[in-house]
Amino acid sequence: MKREEYALALLRSCYGYDSFRGLQWDVIEHTLDGGDSIVLMPTGGGKSLCFQIPGLMSQDGFAIVISPLLALMNDQIDALQQNGIPALALNSEKSESENRQTVDLLMQGKVKLLYISPEKLLSEISRWSPSITHRICLIAVDEAHCISQWGHDFRPEYTQLGTLKQRFPHVPVMALTATADRITRDDIATQLHIPRARLFISSFDRPNISLNVVQGVTGRQKLRNIVQFINLHQGESGIIYCLRRIDTEKMAANLTRMGISARAFHAGMSVSEKLQVQRDFINDDVKVVCATIAFGMGIDKSNVRYVIHSNMPRNIESYYQEIGRAGRDGLPADALMFYSYGDVVTLQQFARQSGQVQVNMDKLRQMQQFAESGVCRRRILLSYFNERFDHDCHNCDVCANPPERFDGTRYAQMALSAIKRTAEQAGMYTVTDILRGWRKADIVEKGYDRLKTFGVGHDLSNAEWNAYLLQMLQMGLIEVAYDENNHLKVTEYGNEVLYGRATIALNRFERRRFDSKTRQPSAAVQPAIPSQASPAKQMDKALFEKLRDVRKALATASHLAPYMVFSDKSLTEMATAKPTTQPEFSLIHGVGDQKCQKYWRPFTAAIREHLDRNK
Ligand code: ADP
Ligand code: ZN
Repeated sequence: MKREEYALALLRSCYGYDSFRGLQWDVIEHTLDGGDSIVLMPTGGGKSLCFQIPGLMSQDGFAIVISPLLALMNDQIDALQQNGIPALALNSEKSESENRQTVDLLMQGKVKLLYISPEKLLSEISRWSPSITHRICLIAVDEAHCISQWGHDFRPEYTQLGTLKQRFPHVPVMALTATADRITRDDIATQLHIPRARLFISSFDRPNISLNVVQGVTGRQKLRNIVQFINLHQGESGIIYCLRRIDTEKMAANLTRMGISARAFHAGMSVSEKLQVQRDFINDDVKVVCATIAFGMGIDKSNVRYVIHSNMPRNIESYYQEIGRAGRDGLPADALMFYSYGDVVTLQQFARQSGQVQVNMDKLRQMQQFAESGVCRRRILLSYFNERFDHDCHNCDVCANPPERFDGTRYAQMALSAIKRTAEQAGMYTVTDILRGWRKADIVEKGYDRLKTFGVGHDLSNAEWNAYLLQMLQMGLIEVAYDENNHLKVTEYGNEVLYGRATIALNRFERRRFDSKTRQPSAAVQPAIPSQASPAKQMDKALFEKLRDVRKALATASHLAPYMVFSDKSLTEMATAKPTTQPEFSLIHGVGDQKCQKYWRPFTAAIREHLDRNK
């Protein structure tokens, strides 16, 4: 059998999936050929399969998976074992005898995936005999940004991983992360000693998440909107992020009073209280968690249907990471953010008290610009992460209710040309002065008044140029080089507009930037557009509810989280295709051999009963 066919057969029988997604197969193939790699995919992008499949394909070898999050590790092992995959973990949470047993099984060749914490790894490996070490087929480093001081989550225990490549030069190393920036990426390659690692970057777009921002709604009205929103999502799980601990408690109390199953979660609670909330949420016993930013790390719940930001987050990175906890199963999900000027004031205080005042103030300003913008939200997000996205998404509140636009190609070309003629050595204000033809001292000094573009944009005001340049930035035509005095640079996409190969629509300039009436909350509360065509169309909602009960009962009986029995996506397919026999059931997304054996009876019985009753 060709190796791709073999891989697909494993994918079907172990996971119940029909095909690889995006770059998964490319990464796997490169690994099977012995290459090192750095894999950048957003949360929910499907990183795990990239290292699990090579481990499973190996004849008598096994893959080492290094992961810093113990809770997540045990969770993943449970999920893998549910699928009949021989995966085990070595970590400090397990007893000495459990760990010894794991090593025994490893020696007998009965383990394909060995999850291990970074601090345990080196001491452990030094005890292994060559008969074990020469069977290592892959070293996967999950959350690889933790090795870099530039990353947002540096962990000193990761730095020792650098010796692995020298010790096992012939074993491919795979570094995986959901953090995108260039500095961190380069640092990972250096620290892990994999200079020739191939870089795999998949899109950071999460098209199934509908993005919505509501401006200027506060107090009781905000609470009413949130309750209304949650009621539209009855029976579904969601997270509400708040700025302060006290807010999470107030929010949870208010929601509980309205009959909504909600709990608070914040760093001030005891470990056991936090674990309990986390467990109840994962088990679908609590529907809504009101949390500070601490919640969500290490939670792999795939059926979070919405994330609400009760206040604006402090930067775009946090916003992106937090909304990413919704819709990991790929089904439509909602992100709803409330934004008022009071948030900005509070966040400015936070930023001033932080260690890096300037950086944090800049990031806050960009977050505010995102919230106030009339540009498609997804365009802004992806441009922020240096990803090209040159069309409107039709799944955000701006796209659902766009401001008045005009063909801004000519203005954009003026600005792009001016930026080029400064050799990309000028910031936003200087570019505006050049366009407006202001002969002020430093312009003359640099000779900018002799540029061909000097004064070509004199018919627009300062404010207009600033607004249009900001839109161009948010749409990814230009970039700000933060490491070079904030000079403006023209991107590849910008070049296409400059040379007439693409056109660009700009929002007509409006003097009033902050207006609570411009964006009605109702537009956000009723999610913009039902995302892509999904099987949800013909889904039998009543049957779905019934199957959800079956899942819950089975999960409780075997002490598992419901989503480990089946994902919402699998239930949706069942409630659509309505399989009543074992062969039909085996075709459902997420039904591998092991789960088919285990679960086909209760689910098909429930479906048959439902069909009989509704004849
Ligand atoms: P990440 O680690 O990148 O956050 P995961 O590996 O947990 O993402 O994958 C996210 C979800 O997508 C999981 O529920 C996983 O089972 C599912 N998934 C991954 N690859 C595929 C695939 N090829 N086909 C169908 N579902 C997939
Ligand atoms: Zn959009």
